[in-house]
Amino acid sequence: MTARILDGKALAAQVEREVAAQAAALTARYGVSPGLAAVLVGDDPASVLYVRRKAEAFGRTGMRSETFHLPASTAEAELLQLIATLNARPDIHGILPQQPMPEQINPRTVFERVDPAKDVDGLGPMNMAALLVGRPRLVPCTPAGIMRLLEHAGIEVGGKDAVVIGRSLIVGRPIALLLLQANATVTMCHTRTRELAAHTRRADILVVAAGKARLITREMVKPGAVIVDVGVNRADGRLAGDVDFAAVAEVAGWITPVPGGVGPMTIAMLLRNTVQAAEAQLRSGKTV
Ligand code: NAD
Repeated sequence: MTARILDGKALAAQVEREVAAQAAALTARYGVSPGLAAVLVGDDPASVLYVRRKAEAFGRTGMRSETFHLPASTAEAELLQLIATLNARPDIHGILPQQPMPEQINPRTVFERVDPAKDVDGLGPMNMAALLVGRPRLVPCTPAGIMRLLEHAGIEVGGKDAVVIGRSLIVGRPIALLLLQANATVTMCHTRTRELAAHTRRADILVVAAGKARLITREMVKPGAVIVDVGVNRADGRLAGDVDFAAVAEVAGWITPVPGGVGPMTIAMLLRNTVQAAEAQLRSGKTV
């Protein structure tokens, strides 16, 4: 193997220590610890697991988290009412509506209702707009985690050819904007892209967020490239990314493992966003 590993697990542990120190300082100063409300509608097993992992991480860093687990039959109006209640609670600094949501609920409507100051997932219109105009506030967690991984490894982004596969609001679009802001030349690929390999082979930095196991093979990768694998798939009973890891690691310069790459960084950035949101709210005196 030639590739060096972008170790998200180790870096996430470092971020957790930083966040724990910040949370302790806020608690000492304002008498209230940063608090998250995670909202889960239905019983999607992956979501149940993610929310539990997030709650554990909040506990480890001395922050509070409350999980609101609603039945899959919950009406959109009822969920919006809960969001309004959480927006008004001074002891809740971050609100995390977990996706996917049942079909009677439009997730965009939900994200539009979250107070932008508490939108720790960065998916509401205000935080998305801030990212678009180049003045990021609360940045979506997965893309923020990817940028932190690149920065920590000392990977230069400016002037590089970056290719992003996937155009979702949660990963593809915001990571393309962040890479652009860091002066990469960015290409976005998606299901309607012709000749995907022609694009990926040019990539100095390849971010793959398609949700398709083994989408990226060794032949599709430029030697020495930085490979960021966001995908989480179940393949042959095991967790796998979108990249054929063993083969691609033979040619790449850097690569994220799955698990242990982007996933832990996503949770770490949720912690960071929540402490950042809490600090802003506590400083402005909006809360207790
Ligand atoms: P999504 O389904 O909303 O979007 C997938 C995108 O990939 C789409 O824009 C689609 O056009 C593109 N795509 C799919 N197949 C393709 C193909 N064959 N060629 C080119 N483009 C293709 O998914 P998402 O929410 O963006 O998540 C993507 C993956 O990342 C999933 O596996 C998800 O589980 C994972 N994910 C991981 C984390 C993490 O923290 N590790 C966070 C979010 C998402």
